[in-house]
Amino acid sequence: MIRRIDLRGRQVADYRTVVPRADFDVEAALDVVRPICDAVRHRGVEAIVEYSARFDRVEQSEIAVPAEALVRALEGLDPAVRLALEESIRRLRATCEAELEQDTVTEVVPGGTVTQRMIPIERVGLYVPGGIAPLVSSVVMNVVPAQVAGVGSIALTSSPQAEHGGLPHPTILAACALLGVQEVYAVGGAQAIAMFAYGAGPCRKVDLVTGPGNIYTVSAKRLLKGVVGIDSEAGPTEIAILADDSAEAAFVAADLISQAEHDPLAASVLVTPSEALAADVEAELDKQVSVTRHVERVRTALSGRQSGIVLVDDLEQGLAVVNAYAAEHLEIQTEDAPAWAARVVNAGAIFVGAFAPVSLGDYCAGSNHVLPTAGCACHSGGLSVRDFRKAVHVISYDATALRDVADHVVTLAEAEDLPGHGAAVRARFAGRGE
Ligand code: NAD
Repeated sequence: MIRRIDLRGRQVADYRTVVPRADFDVEAALDVVRPICDAVRHRGVEAIVEYSARFDRVEQSEIAVPAEALVRALEGLDPAVRLALEESIRRLRATCEAELEQDTVTEVVPGGTVTQRMIPIERVGLYVPGGIAPLVSSVVMNVVPAQVAGVGSIALTSSPQAEHGGLPHPTILAACALLGVQEVYAVGGAQAIAMFAYGAGPCRKVDLVTGPGNIYTVSAKRLLKGVVGIDSEAGPTEIAILADDSAEAAFVAADLISQAEHDPLAASVLVTPSEALAADVEAELDKQVSVTRHVERVRTALSGRQSGIVLVDDLEQGLAVVNAYAAEHLEIQTEDAPAWAARVVNAGAIFVGAFAPVSLGDYCAGSNHVLPTAGCACHSGGLSVRDFRKAVHVISYDATALRDVADHVVTLAEAEDLPGHGAAVRARFAGRGE
């Protein structure tokens, strides 16, 4: 069901060339999403409803979710789900508040200060996946950091559902109502990202789009980056597990399955020096997959090119492999897991030890589950309050402070052959005998 990649005894110059990856990647999906985004840009809501009919099989007369639908959804929310959501919100809010950066003032010289002001983004568009499963947890993961950051205008969108009258899943709507989000749209995929980037019908253009999604959603984010700000490319999910003989095969297999159930394109990767663990995990997968609810989706993900068991000489080589892979989620299930975790440099989030499974991080750890995929963890981190604020320098110099550094400014301006820059400084002191 899951292939093996044997790196034992092999000299590999760049492990990125041998780690498992899907054939249909974000780059390949650009050809699919470009016409969708162009159509939404030029034809707005008319194009959106055509794509909703084609991809989501719904007939829509409007794309904005009515306020009454939000109220109704919250009234109908299962009390146990409400309690769990409230706990998830409480934990994530605590980390977001702790991470909120304050403004910093640096007196560079007497009379000359640089202040870094953290300014909330004015208007954001939050994407919540809804095509395969109603990811109500992604409402929390997007909305809480945006609210803590102080964003003034929050719009949220999720795929329309045929079985819910063309609205997003009621649990998603209930979570929006619980968090006080009132501007909600029933639009999914690339057309949703284009709606946010360009504006369409009732939806005003936003400044930043965040949130996870499938290959089409994330590809549209890559295409429209610059037209609109984006967070990381948080696409089809990935789990990598670095494990040795001390790991419990049943836990490892369950965690590989838990991510595989997200998407046929999800990646589940085990990296281990233990042949015995590899064999035990394969046996556990056979046992556990047959009884899992989304068996076909899980089988497709586990048997795809993007998944595999990578056999390595030792944990040292395993560490090199997981750092090259730069997984969205990385679990460390080894002896002395904290020490190995401390040496990881590329991962969206790191889960340490047998009792910190990715499922905990998906819902209730207090961490964010919107995380970079497809190797993007080598340059991006997970969604946080930082994404929703801009660091803006405020420069304040008095005449004496400027005069003291004027010669250096003029010299550097001349070195760049931009004498007008120097002149702009000199002009301030001309005719003052200085
Ligand atoms: P989704 O909501 O992003 O996509 C659904 C939309 O895709 C549909 O509304 C439809 O418009 C569009 N679509 C479907 N087929 C299409 C096609 N052939 N061409 C163009 N557009 C098409 O996502 P989903 O399908 O519900 O899947 C959720 C995804 O989000 C999974 O891949 C999951 O792994 C991922 N995810 C990632 C993270 C992360 O942080 N990286 C977190 C949670 C979920």
